[in-house]
Amino acid sequence: MLIDLTQLEKDDLSIKHLYPENTLDLEDKEHTLASSCNVSLTLRRRKTDIDLSGKIETEVNLLCDRCLTDIKIVIANKFNLICLPENNLNQTDELILERRELDFCFYQNDKLNLDDIVKEQIQLAIPMSNLCKENCLGLCSQCGQDLNQKKCDCSSKDIDPRWSALTDLKKKFK
Ligand SMILES: [Zn+2]
Ligand SMILES: [Zn+2]
Repeated sequence: MLIDLTQLEKDDLSIKHLYPENTLDLEDKEHTLASSCNVSLTLRRRKTDIDLSGKIETEVNLLCDRCLTDIKIVIANKFNLICLPENNLNQTDELILERRELDFCFYQNDKLNLDDIVKEQIQLAIPMSNLCKENCLGLCSQCGQDLNQKKCDCSSKDIDPRWSALTDLKKKFK
């Protein structure tokens, strides 16, 4: 969806938009949205810059980092951006350096691409580590068994090396 910024002359512009399920693909193919995506935005013009504050609510499908089962996480993220016109980027280069600590986005010909902003913000809101549950036991590194479901034999051998001497001894007597 493109937002026409010519609407934004004096007053703030508030926008609410709902992306129905399966209408927004993230850049990163590993992640897909598990629900619709609710976006609300407020835009305020400051000469050519536009202050944008927004909120995104959606759910993302992920894999547990340890056991690789499918999980869903809720994203409810607030963000602030400064939107700059892409056409006179050279003028604003200096500005960017000065305000490096802030987040930027760019618009072209008075049109702001909401999809791109929303995709980027969802991507940024996905945590670095995701577990199906806090104490997920993960997969056995040797046989691949999901240790949340049942223990495998290799794990018990690894856990206590003191037993291996006994196992060797048993083998001798067989
Ligand atoms: Zn897990
Ligand atoms: Zn195993």
